[in-house]
Amino acid sequence: MSEAKPEKVDMEKLVSLCRRRGFIFPSSEIYGGLSSCWDYGPLGVELKRNIKQAWWRAVVQQRDDMVGMDASILMHPQTWEASGHLEGFSDPLVECKGCHKRWRSDELEGDKCPSCGGELTEPRLFNLMFKTFIGPVEDQASVVYLRPETAQGMFVNFENVLNTTRKRLPFGIAQIGKAFRNEITTGNFIFRCREFEQMEIEFFVKPGTDKQWFDYWLEERLNWYVGLGIKKENLKLRQHTKEELAHYARECYDIDYLYPMGWAELEGIANRGDFDLVQHAKSSGKSLVYYDEETKEHIVPYIIEPSAGVDRTALAVLCDAYDEDIAEGEKRVLLHLHPDLAPIKVAVLPLSRKETLAPLAKEIYAELRQQWMASYDDAQSIGRRYRRQDEIGTPFCVTVDFESLEDNQVTIRERDSLRQIRVPISELKKTLQAKLDGEDLFVLPPGGKIWKGGETQ
Ligand code: ATP
Repeated sequence: MSEAKPEKVDMEKLVSLCRRRGFIFPSSEIYGGLSSCWDYGPLGVELKRNIKQAWWRAVVQQRDDMVGMDASILMHPQTWEASGHLEGFSDPLVECKGCHKRWRSDELEGDKCPSCGGELTEPRLFNLMFKTFIGPVEDQASVVYLRPETAQGMFVNFENVLNTTRKRLPFGIAQIGKAFRNEITTGNFIFRCREFEQMEIEFFVKPGTDKQWFDYWLEERLNWYVGLGIKKENLKLRQHTKEELAHYARECYDIDYLYPMGWAELEGIANRGDFDLVQHAKSSGKSLVYYDEETKEHIVPYIIEPSAGVDRTALAVLCDAYDEDIAEGEKRVLLHLHPDLAPIKVAVLPLSRKETLAPLAKEIYAELRQQWMASYDDAQSIGRRYRRQDEIGTPFCVTVDFESLEDNQVTIRERDSLRQIRVPISELKKTLQAKLDGEDLFVLPPGGKIWKGGETQ
């Protein structure tokens, strides 16, 4: 986390918005919270689901060379011996002799405790895996670990996937799931959690084509974030130095995002070579090879691994979307969320609470929520209600007014431009779908008209 620039969004403001509006709460808050564990509330869970769905669509559904899977979190303990996690997955740790706080020695500047200035112990390696026991006996033989990454579940299933799908190289396996790390340096909200979700791809290729596929995935993954509305200037690629490279990696880049605390990793993309399949073959005694029909040879594929975090993506998306401006003469906070990611796609707002408007407004709401996450709000002034939706990133508000009862039309208001159109209720669903897919608001359906903001076109 270097080159920290003056932040565009204040982390405290974001944390407060997330808490206030039900995106993210501290875990088990009524008991004082649990360090680096977070609960996603009603809006947060939608945002996270949308991120995962966008990823799955891009890397599994829309591709012919990828399949998904969902491996168990608990794996045979030999997995972690073979992968090198038991031996190597550790951070050097020092403890303050005064206040007993622990620090990662590789992140410290100077040789004193940053908290109290006390003297520090010599560094000691601390394994980041959470240990637990399987079965009723808590002895050495029953030790298992909560997986610190989802990747290993895909390596050990290489043969199963190969045999059941008949995929040929190059092909990939994709997985989304929880991972656990007993992190030492925590903080920065959901950036570094002890329980988090990963979205990982293991892409198997012929040795010799690995560099080409590595470059392909770098570009592909960077474009995915840009396609979801993250500003290009807030993303950059950073190559790992030789000293930084993990034991399994031949080459590695991070996609870094400019978080409020500075540039930091959003996703890691590694060329793992044949390390994992060779290790698991050795450790299990099973042959993990691929028969190349062209050359009539058995080969061990190389693996390109784009490994992303759901929580870090959520944080990047929220930081990037956060904005404050003046709208209709009032200060507002808004999230410019991409429609695919917005927790609520459309809000239905009757202009007044008068009973005459409620039946039609509720009927429209019932219809829209068959298709999208929608919300209904009739409390307080219409301006207030628009602000509430802007603050959670709802792209469109549908307003039902007294004229709607006469002309069977409603207005659609767009979050960012504040422009409005008026459309027949019979065209509403189709129109909203087109706008959510990116069509300009002023492309009108039959019978529609520009209502407000036409002069800005
Ligand atoms: P860092 O250097 O920040 O600790 P890492 O290099 O250990 O991260 P990887 O092992 O490459 O991370 O994990 C792949 C991805 O998983 C990361 O890019 C990140 O998005 C996510 N991730 C890893 N650790 C955490 C964590 N503690 N909390 C949230 N997300 C995480």
